[in-house]
Amino acid sequence: MQRREFNQHLQRSAIALALSPWLTAPSAFAADKSRTWRTNPFALGVASGRPRADSVVLWTRVLFSEEDRAAADEALRVQVEVFADVGLKRRVQIAEVVTDGARGHSVHLHVRNLQPSTDYWYRFKQGDASSTVGHTRTAPALNADVRQLRIALSSCQHYEQGQFIAHAEIAKQPLDFVLFMGDYIYESTNPQYAIRKHNGEEPKTLAQYRERYEQYKRDPMLQAAHAAHPWVLMWDDHEVVNDYANDQDRQYTDPQQMLKRRAAAYQAYFEHQPVLLGPDADNPANMRLYDQLSWGKLADVWTLDCRQYRSAQACRDPVRGGGRMVVQCDELNDASRTMLGNTQERWLSDSLSQSKRHWKLVAQATQISSTSVSAPVGRSYWNDAWDGYPQARKRLLQTVVDAKLQNVVTLGGDVHCNVAANLRLEPNNLQSPIVASEFVTTSITSRGLGDKPSAVIRESNADLLHYRADERGYSLITVTPQEVRCDFRTTKFPAGSEAGLKTQASYVVKNGKAGPQAI
Ligand code: FE
Ligand code: CA
Repeated sequence: MQRREFNQHLQRSAIALALSPWLTAPSAFAADKSRTWRTNPFALGVASGRPRADSVVLWTRVLFSEEDRAAADEALRVQVEVFADVGLKRRVQIAEVVTDGARGHSVHLHVRNLQPSTDYWYRFKQGDASSTVGHTRTAPALNADVRQLRIALSSCQHYEQGQFIAHAEIAKQPLDFVLFMGDYIYESTNPQYAIRKHNGEEPKTLAQYRERYEQYKRDPMLQAAHAAHPWVLMWDDHEVVNDYANDQDRQYTDPQQMLKRRAAAYQAYFEHQPVLLGPDADNPANMRLYDQLSWGKLADVWTLDCRQYRSAQACRDPVRGGGRMVVQCDELNDASRTMLGNTQERWLSDSLSQSKRHWKLVAQATQISSTSVSAPVGRSYWNDAWDGYPQARKRLLQTVVDAKLQNVVTLGGDVHCNVAANLRLEPNNLQSPIVASEFVTTSITSRGLGDKPSAVIRESNADLLHYRADERGYSLITVTPQEVRCDFRTTKFPAGSEAGLKTQASYVVKNGKAGPQAI
């Protein structure tokens, strides 16, 4: 097809593209004459994600440098190659993905017909440019007797507040996947703790969110962790704006305005991650990200969206909404308030109740155990985590009790703190049985709570077996038929590029016995 015909064709499909920029691949494109790139367009690296027994999602994004900008709106064909060996001798699949400016030239390929529990290597090509080579690995067959699952649990990587050295270590670990539970980017800044700087202003538009992702994705340590392992991803608040809840932000912005911002943020998220679009793909304002995967007979893993569908925080400050400590807040007891939204909550409770796998790992973006403290006028609760949604928390744990589920372990992030905790129907009531176990990982870089408030929280909550907010890092989760082990790998704040990580503490949950034990 000639260039002129191609442009006409693109114009004809422009309406479809505008309606549904991610779904509708341009059906025609320029003859793929070899393009000469002045700067390698794969500067944001490569990634894989959503591992299944027979499939994986591969990702990259073609980035135009200043010198290559003349071509910036064009549709492009990008070649994807998948190999069975690290030497790239045995190519098992080759595909072409068409992308264009409507999706930021992001490239997603859902590779199917792969073998279970198998290593693959992949790369992208466009014109004379090649990407780096990524490694990925498929999940085991659903009925496989799996002896081990190794996960790096991570969250909260404020670019300004530290170097991503945790990712440099994650890249070198033997893992099945990285489980990243949100705050992948931060929209906001705190000059007091900045050891490096965000580019540009606080993002509100698609172009600004793209720019923010570009800056994070250029980080070589983050790129290494993506190139080394598949990732399983969930977002939290900072991918959009601090403490948002559904269509509400802290400034009480008009919900319609807020949803426009959220749609831009969600689209940019999709454009930069190895994720599949859910059934709401044609509407970026409502993007389903929650998911479930199985690891042979060993484990089911759920990843829950705790932002998109939740009720607004209880007893918000009328001037500055969002998260805060609340006391004497009757709204907390309102049973209609939801953390997951009714649809996701029902989906979770059905699938959790029916799970026959040995371990049930419920991954979600924040903390389920209580961090409440005594105040002169009553108990005081952080209203942005599950403490602010106690009825929803009770329903979740009641599901565990009603279905007589053993071996439920919840995994979280968001609070910039390493937590090992007992989960009871009635938090901190030692008469109430322990029904599940919780591990929450500290942040990759983001600053945590000070020593004094941390100590008060620790002393006020008998269910918190471990609670340390002073160090940064990630958590190594090793699942075997006998136990789920958590090693908190940490360094001091702020994480410097030369720092190393050590094990702050290790806990295990033993088969058939709820509650973490220190080792
Ligand atoms: Fe965070
Ligand atoms: Ca957060």
